[in-house]
Amino acid sequence: MKIGVLALQGDFAEHIVMLRRLGVVTAEVRLPSHLDDLDGLIMPGGESTTIGKLAVAYNLMDPLRNFGRSKAIWGTCAGAIFLSRDARREQPLLGIMDITVIRNAFGAQVDSFEADLDIEILKKRTGTSLPYHAVFIRAPIIESVSGNAHAISTLPDGRIVAAMENKLLATSFHPELTGDTRFHELFISICK
Ligand code: GLN
Repeated sequence: MKIGVLALQGDFAEHIVMLRRLGVVTAEVRLPSHLDDLDGLIMPGGESTTIGKLAVAYNLMDPLRNFGRSKAIWGTCAGAIFLSRDARREQPLLGIMDITVIRNAFGAQVDSFEADLDIEILKKRTGTSLPYHAVFIRAPIIESVSGNAHAISTLPDGRIVAAMENKLLATSFHPELTGDTRFHELFISICK
């Protein structure tokens, strides 16, 4: 099992630490050829406009889209925006996941927050009823899911903060910034 982390900008190093803790071989992805032998790819949080512009500059857009046709991709925060079909703004998007997002939906950096979420898919997988502590940093909201995409987590007011579509996973929050490895374990199971 080898999982790459898109390492153009953002908190890719934290994802690599989590994956290594779980015994996964990792690779930093900056060029199309770095995708060749991977079972899955994580796209980290950061700034989606910057990640998109760098992906265009490094000719990664089509190789990433092709990768996502058969392999697992997980986008956290900016990475989720980059996966989406529409972010209500002109910026390079992969557009391969049937979700639309609203960027910075909770306000500015100072409005960042943490929340305990009930996530059924994690409970089922682990057989525990522990809530999932999620970190939101200038986070997007997943405004809509369509086609094969479906919500896997919502805030108490119903707004969607995590979604899945076949082997694609999107989370508004940052599982790489907590000690809880359950989301990374879920992604590893999708890569298999
Ligand atoms: N606000 C950033 C964006 O719109 C995402 C923030 C993050 O990844 N924590 O790209």
